[in-house]
Amino acid sequence: MQDVTSAASVSAGRGREPGPAAAHTATTVAPGDLLRRLRQRHATDPVTHVERVPPRTGVPAPWPQWVPEQLRAAYAGRGVTAPWRHQAEAAGLAYDRQHVVVATGTASGKSLAYQLPALATLLADPRATVLYLAPTKALAADQLRAVAELDLDDVRPACYDGDTPRAEREWIRRHSRFVLTNPDMLHHGILPGHAQWSGFLRRLAYVVVDECHVYRGVFGSHVAHVLRRLRRQCARYGRAAGPTFVLASATSGDPAATAGRLTGLPVVAVAEDTSPRAGVTFALWEPPLLPPDPSASPSPSVTSAPSAAGSVAAAVTAPAPRRTRDARPSPGPPPTRPDAGPPPTRPDAAAAAAPPSGPPEDAGAPPTADLTQVRRSALRETADLLADTVAAGVRTLAFVRSRRGAEVVANNARRGLDEAVPGLGDRVAAYRAGYLREERRELERALLHGDLLGLASTNALELGVDLVGLDAVLICGYPGTRASLWQQAGRAGRSGQEALAVLVARDDPLDTYLVHHPEAIFGAPVEATVLDPANAYVLGPQLACAAAEAPLTEADLELFGAGAKEAVEALVEAGALRQRPTGWYWRHRERPEVDLRGEGGAPVCVVEAATGRLLGTADGGSSHFLLHPGAVYLHQGVSYVVDALDLDDGCALVRPEEPDWSTHARDVTSLSVVSVRSYVDAGPVGLFLGEVDVTSQVVSYQRRRIATGEVIDTRPLDLPARELRTVAVWFTLSPESLVGAGVDPADVPGALHAAEHAAIGLLPLVATCDRWDIGGISTAVHPDTEAPTVFVYDGHSGGAGFAERAYGMAAAWLRATRDAIEECGCEAGCPSCVQSPKCGNGNNPLSKSGAVRVLDVVLANLPE
Ligand SMILES: [Zn+2]
Ligand SMILES: [Zn+2]
Repeated sequence: MQDVTSAASVSAGRGREPGPAAAHTATTVAPGDLLRRLRQRHATDPVTHVERVPPRTGVPAPWPQWVPEQLRAAYAGRGVTAPWRHQAEAAGLAYDRQHVVVATGTASGKSLAYQLPALATLLADPRATVLYLAPTKALAADQLRAVAELDLDDVRPACYDGDTPRAEREWIRRHSRFVLTNPDMLHHGILPGHAQWSGFLRRLAYVVVDECHVYRGVFGSHVAHVLRRLRRQCARYGRAAGPTFVLASATSGDPAATAGRLTGLPVVAVAEDTSPRAGVTFALWEPPLLPPDPSASPSPSVTSAPSAAGSVAAAVTAPAPRRTRDARPSPGPPPTRPDAGPPPTRPDAAAAAAPPSGPPEDAGAPPTADLTQVRRSALRETADLLADTVAAGVRTLAFVRSRRGAEVVANNARRGLDEAVPGLGDRVAAYRAGYLREERRELERALLHGDLLGLASTNALELGVDLVGLDAVLICGYPGTRASLWQQAGRAGRSGQEALAVLVARDDPLDTYLVHHPEAIFGAPVEATVLDPANAYVLGPQLACAAAEAPLTEADLELFGAGAKEAVEALVEAGALRQRPTGWYWRHRERPEVDLRGEGGAPVCVVEAATGRLLGTADGGSSHFLLHPGAVYLHQGVSYVVDALDLDDGCALVRPEEPDWSTHARDVTSLSVVSVRSYVDAGPVGLFLGEVDVTSQVVSYQRRRIATGEVIDTRPLDLPARELRTVAVWFTLSPESLVGAGVDPADVPGALHAAEHAAIGLLPLVATCDRWDIGGISTAVHPDTEAPTVFVYDGHSGGAGFAERAYGMAAAWLRATRDAIEECGCEAGCPSCVQSPKCGNGNNPLSKSGAVRVLDVVLANLPE
């Protein structure tokens, strides 16, 4: 296990493209001074913890003997005079034909670790080939540039993806010896056309799998089988030994085991980061509670007029009114969360639909946040911090979890800056995966050259661009895993300079727990990546693809692992395969249609109706939430309203309009138990893992005033229901045990519901998921369990391993859940503990004290 210090690798773009940061001259503000300035914005100190991540000195190693002079000279020409020790070690293992994963921090030079053995082999053997896989086209394009700049004879590197013109494809297949692509293209293009690639595959020496930690959950399970299909074709055309796999991963727990599961091969890990890094001051930031008086709307973001005092930064930093954590709520209409939005979609296309949550009944009920204290939204807080750092001349990147959130942060920061100094707002922009390629490239260029000082991004920027050496990183909401947190923070810090990272807590149980338990961030190892190649919903379709490429044999079944035999028999049963003496044959003319990125479906195009202009795309799963008729859709700060969503054509028609409300979709959900896989009988308490069927439907949306959060109205929607068979973990309690614990029978639904919300919120603590990967339902009597029950399920067909992880670590998970609820400073429940932003039931009913009692009963009976 690595400690967090080495996990938090920061700075020094060694081995990657040498420091784009160097091109920009920004003001240098010591992180301590900057933080001091930022935390003055509130009357109460929002900083709950400051961790100093010390700088690290690099450990260089000599060039391995086998690296030819030409290659050394090429790197020297780009400023790389010697590898770091971890690079040399990983490269050496790969050169000796051992499968290896290098799992080190951002900008630790992982590319050199695979480029060295791959390029040395291409130079030594004029026939050898290399296949490089990146999760995004942008990252492959970056790598292509890096390899092409080395200008090596006869390597002829080329990208082969959806953007590659037809005319060039044949040339690449025949002549390129370093092909860069992505798993989707491998799956849809290269493997089905393997005959045309036979020469390339026969001579394939290395397969590089970059950013392999991205291959998690259902997407990861699919990619695992795509790699097995690749190995199978290599074996059919070429050497028995097959290519050597070199994987690069962000720092993660047990990288060797994860890489082994991904490739199906024994993999050695190199995980000690020996690159140098800048020191980072890492602050945990909890936005202040808003006053309970609803007439006091959330303090506007940076809108005060410039004051005479101090710098521009001081001028745009209007201190919020004095607030204390213990402010007594006064009765009155409920304050609503200013940014409670539709479920944020996970920012990259790997996301499945945001699964719904909450009991099925009563969707669309108004929020009943009666005595709730609400914190200032993390989005507004981050926007203000971004405006402040930009005003101070500090090059800053803000990570925001949702696309919509990134737009809001950029917009608010821009507005605040413009009000302070007209024109200053132009130096802030938003970035997300859904933007078109040209837009993305333009933003990247502007930030590298310093035309832009502030960028609000979804985690799309974790991938695909080589952007390091920023002065400050703001992380709006815990990104779901410590691995991701460190990767985002790793964008901060230029060589030899100190940098600032700030985690701004969102108003939810996990974030609140973390900013008050810094040991859970700084004292814990990073998580292992969860993927499950045995998922029958992945294995069956993948075996169909494999059979369509070439008939399956008994030996192939071994390659595809546990469950393959059963999956093949099911395909025969279903009429998809025919068994003959020589193997299993695909029976249809058309190839099977399989989407690697889950059941989210094809992306939905967002089109401006009047001009036909394509604004961007959204993944199919989130389209019901974000692009329903009437939805307000933001693109680069411009507001649009959706006129129509055509699910058959995969297109939403929008028109520019800026109403003063936002829209929030609601769904209803029901669940039935299909089978129980495993259970723990703990007296009055039962813990179960099994298959369930979940039906959900987006049925309505609310319109809320942007300024106040006031609900204007709720409007019905007519969208089809979606079905999901998945894996759930659930616990039951006997009604008697609840009475014995002092839970009033009338309080049982609220107690279970509150426990469910908080349990979903805390699950990412034990599994590499985020709360949008999972859903839940609670009920006082469920027809299948005949008892008070709380279900938490994977939001992916066939499950993604998250519920299973929760089942395995139930005691630790539910203990943290209980503590998070009990320790929350609110009186009757708030978004920091038991309220859920995606509740289909309007957060009603909820009983905070009842939830603690429910969990006490469970924990008292459940074995540790
Ligand atoms: Zn709920
Ligand atoms: Zn609370």
